[in-house]
Amino acid sequence: MGKLTVKDAPLENKRVIMRVDFNVPVKEGVVQDDTRIRAALPTIKYVLDQGAAVILMSHLGRPKGERKPEYSLKPVAKRLEELLGLEVIFLEDNFGDEVKKAVERLETGQVMLLENTRFQKGETKNDSKLAEFWASLADIHVNDAFGTAHRAHASNVGVAKYLPSVAGFLMEKEIEFLSKVTYDPEPPYVVILGGVKVSDKIGVITNLLEKANKILIGGAMMFTFFKALGKDVGDSLVEEDKLDLALDILKKAEEKGVEMVLPVDTVIAQDIKEGVEKKVVDIDEGIPAGWKGLDIGPKTVELFKEKLADARTVVWNGPMGVFEIDDFAEGTRAVAEMVASLSNAVTVVGGGDSAAAVKKFNLETQMSHVSTGGGASLEFLEGKELPGIASIASRKVRKPMVAGNWKMNKTPSEAVMFGQKLVNEVGGIEAVDVVVCPPFVDIPGVSEVLKGSKIELGAQNTYHEDAGAFTGEISPLMLKELGVKYVIIGHSERRRIFGERDEMINRKLKAALKHGLTPIFCIGETLDEREKGLTFNVLERQLRLGLEGFTLEELKKLVIAYEPVWAIGTGVVATPCQAQEAMEFVRNLLCDLFGEEAKDVRILYGGSINPDNWFSLITREDVDGGLVGGASLKESFIELVRITEKVV
Ligand code: 13P
Repeated sequence: MGKLTVKDAPLENKRVIMRVDFNVPVKEGVVQDDTRIRAALPTIKYVLDQGAAVILMSHLGRPKGERKPEYSLKPVAKRLEELLGLEVIFLEDNFGDEVKKAVERLETGQVMLLENTRFQKGETKNDSKLAEFWASLADIHVNDAFGTAHRAHASNVGVAKYLPSVAGFLMEKEIEFLSKVTYDPEPPYVVILGGVKVSDKIGVITNLLEKANKILIGGAMMFTFFKALGKDVGDSLVEEDKLDLALDILKKAEEKGVEMVLPVDTVIAQDIKEGVEKKVVDIDEGIPAGWKGLDIGPKTVELFKEKLADARTVVWNGPMGVFEIDDFAEGTRAVAEMVASLSNAVTVVGGGDSAAAVKKFNLETQMSHVSTGGGASLEFLEGKELPGIASIASRKVRKPMVAGNWKMNKTPSEAVMFGQKLVNEVGGIEAVDVVVCPPFVDIPGVSEVLKGSKIELGAQNTYHEDAGAFTGEISPLMLKELGVKYVIIGHSERRRIFGERDEMINRKLKAALKHGLTPIFCIGETLDEREKGLTFNVLERQLRLGLEGFTLEELKKLVIAYEPVWAIGTGVVATPCQAQEAMEFVRNLLCDLFGEEAKDVRILYGGSINPDNWFSLITREDVDGGLVGGASLKESFIELVRITEKVV
């Protein structure tokens, strides 16, 4: 899956804020159906087992931003406590200082449930203040609420702007199966659609017409098709204004070679009630006035069985009839049993009523997947990008790099010892480019130690001439001979302490490239410049002047490091938002200057990186790795590499 999950996140000693879908039926303070609570248990337990503290949040019903006791999650906390066998600390609020204080008292292994998120008006408005508050309670956001993934709310989408958001196991399974049937179904692909309205399913039909081989139609929506085809439908439910749409769908299916299978018979009655007189009529005979179709008939069941026999992929959305009443449940039951019996097919039931039907007939475990989301699964099947999935951090598209800038630290013997340790611990890693940049005099020894490992060697500087009367300088040629692959150029310490200017940096970048070294080109604003609002101006100047005369091909050989000067060696790390904002700016500027292909250039973040803050930075879209100072001199470098390996 292209999204990060709880398994990829470092959770030990972390506070995790987890959005779950506890929108369950509650009557007189008692949970009536705990399926959704149970569905969240594996993720909650996993996170606790990893040594984290868990803060849960969910909505329940539609209290519309008001505190209404009937929508309190208190009964849910009680049920959760029973299911988990653990105390669940229930907070009767979800915003403000008291909540903050209570969360601060939360310890590893403890579980807390905040009150209904929709008691806050800002929740459904995706209010950034509210999202920022919730984010401030934790280190990592876990999103396990697939049922709300089609909504951009503060608790699922808003929070992800401030915290790394990863998928829980339920979310992961939903994405995996729904992606398979939406984007990569194995043929023959049969889609079964039911329910009342064609209009509810038009998006799904339109999208699946591109992929399905057969579409079987049941439920009341069949009568809109039949009416459009000129059949007598009696008093059956019809969307009168969708007759043209129904004909249009049939036409499109024919054009695309998709077989549309409509029922051949139907169960009719005069009332939608248990025990009333019912009959089966052929569709061609027509339904008499005063009667309405309430289920598919036995001949249709046989026909559907035939059409499903060789299916390798099946999606079912919407019941075949009024299955809540036993007299009209046979068609839905038969379809559920048919789908359940297809052991060689991927079978996905798309949420809402059809999921309830599968549950009623006890066939849940025999389906590959029963979605927990009604609206969300429909929108997924329509091919839409759901905001609550888009906001989950993605795996890296560009190969990440973790480079250690040792600066003026470690004598040659210390360098060799540490280099050996790195080789032992992370020397075989291929998914991440691991680079160490020791002082010049350490390079020969470290170069020897790194031989045979995947760790690459970098230098911290170079002069732009090949050789000559330049006392105290080192040339790219010399570095090359020692096995150096990368070279840091334009580091802020060189700019500030040694007076390097953009023009000189430009010459050094070119010289490095000429000798086949990969420059790690550093840029970044000072605190003063940031405070004056000049960050983007500074970055733009440094990039334009540093890259003067570069072609796209040359640019593509570079790595850029965004190192805000105020974050270097200060312990004041850029927030993930600050880093992302600046690095996105850099990427966009490179694309403007050099064309779209420049988007593949790797951009590293640098400045007070440590294992505690790294996950929240590396999970940002435009952060392709890190240039690490202090934390690269010890064990923490190994941890940083391991964290990075997980996001690939
Ligand atoms: P620190 O990680 O020590 O802040 O240094 C960052 C840096 O300058 C790397 O080049």
